[in-house]
Amino acid sequence: MRYRSTRGAPAVGLDEALIQGIAPDGGLFLPEQIPNFALEQFDDAVSITDVAGVMLAPFFEHSTLRDDLRAIIDETFYFDIPVVKLTSEPGWCGLLELFHGPTAAFKDVGAGFLAACLTRLEGNPESPLTILVATSGDTGGAVAAAFNERSGMRVAVLYPDGRVSERQAHQLTCWGDNVLSLAVSGSFDDCQALVKAAMADRSLAARHRFSSANSINIGRLLPQAIYYAHSSLVHWRERQQQPSYIVPTGNLGNAFACYLAREMGMPIGEIVLATNENRLIVDFLDGADWAPRASIQTLASAMDVGNPSNMERLRATGGDAAAIGRKVRAASVSDRQIEEEIGRNFTEFGFATCPHTATATYVWRHLDREDRENRDWILAATAHAAKFEQIVEPIIGQAVPVPDELAAILARQRRFTVIAPELDALANALDRGFVD
Ligand SMILES: *Cc1c(COP(=O)(O)O)cnc(C)c1O
Repeated sequence: MRYRSTRGAPAVGLDEALIQGIAPDGGLFLPEQIPNFALEQFDDAVSITDVAGVMLAPFFEHSTLRDDLRAIIDETFYFDIPVVKLTSEPGWCGLLELFHGPTAAFKDVGAGFLAACLTRLEGNPESPLTILVATSGDTGGAVAAAFNERSGMRVAVLYPDGRVSERQAHQLTCWGDNVLSLAVSGSFDDCQALVKAAMADRSLAARHRFSSANSINIGRLLPQAIYYAHSSLVHWRERQQQPSYIVPTGNLGNAFACYLAREMGMPIGEIVLATNENRLIVDFLDGADWAPRASIQTLASAMDVGNPSNMERLRATGGDAAAIGRKVRAASVSDRQIEEEIGRNFTEFGFATCPHTATATYVWRHLDREDRENRDWILAATAHAAKFEQIVEPIIGQAVPVPDELAAILARQRRFTVIAPELDALANALDRGFVD
């Protein structure tokens, strides 16, 4: 398989696409052909690792990682990703629990897979590869956890100072010597712009051997398609119904993975994107121009994105707004509605919902009645509520139990540097920051 840029640069192999992260023309990598599977090809695939083996094989053709694919899959999918039924009265609905990994959010999947690939390709203790990652909260923790203490690899995490939860901040700043945690005095968009500027700076890039691990890296996207494939196959086998999905959406990485899984022939019905008040995608599908905006701070902070980068992939495969609108729907959920929803889920179903996941349950609850009752719905639960206890606990009036993995991370010591949102400040921190 070769990977083309959304902006037309010549296609490259998987190894180069993983290492480069972003195409030389600034575009995002996409597979040259999206493989199409018949469901019979999955007849012997029961576990999620089996499904991954079948589905990822064509993507690894001609890669030097081809013989390691099984090991890479096993290193990635070592925790449960269950669908837990919420209700079937009336209309079936379940939660795809993506939060059982080390940092309790779905990004553990993409980060783990990318770390397994990149360490094999580029890990070099003499001249480490430096992963630059801008995060609005969850990405950085997942990437740091995935690369922590991997030989020949370094990570610099940039996050907006004061705009992530206490526990998220802890997850971004408690790692070993190969992880540099940078609290940027600015927004997530500033962090993303800084990463782009650093990558484009030749001398800096040459000193540090930069690569990215943001959701623009194709190595994040591919494994995310697997849990949609697996959960839809399991559902199809059990109920002979194609599940429809509602996906909390910020940079559109997770939802695009769902879309990819459906393009590959998986039994997936509708795909609905749930955004917070950063509603550019919703307005675009309603006919507005695609005009990136400054991000708005909301309770679902990991979705505070004013310029969702994966839209470039969706537009490159899905056509214009009208064509995309026939393939996916989108709805925006306000902070007030998120709060209301967290309370309602707790009263009705007895579970604590993270603010991001609450956008999906809100959208599900407010579907047209026919739509809600005649289809089976799977809602992506993107993080564990215990990561956002400061928002969730006052609403439900009790403590959210902390999962073991998260508790282990919260017990570690923090270490970080505050920097201004300027390239010089980043360059300085990088040149001095890593302890050897
Ligand atoms: C990152 C994140 C999202 C948004 O996912 P995208 O792939 O950026 O659309 C939603 N919820 C949580 C908890 C996240 O960490």
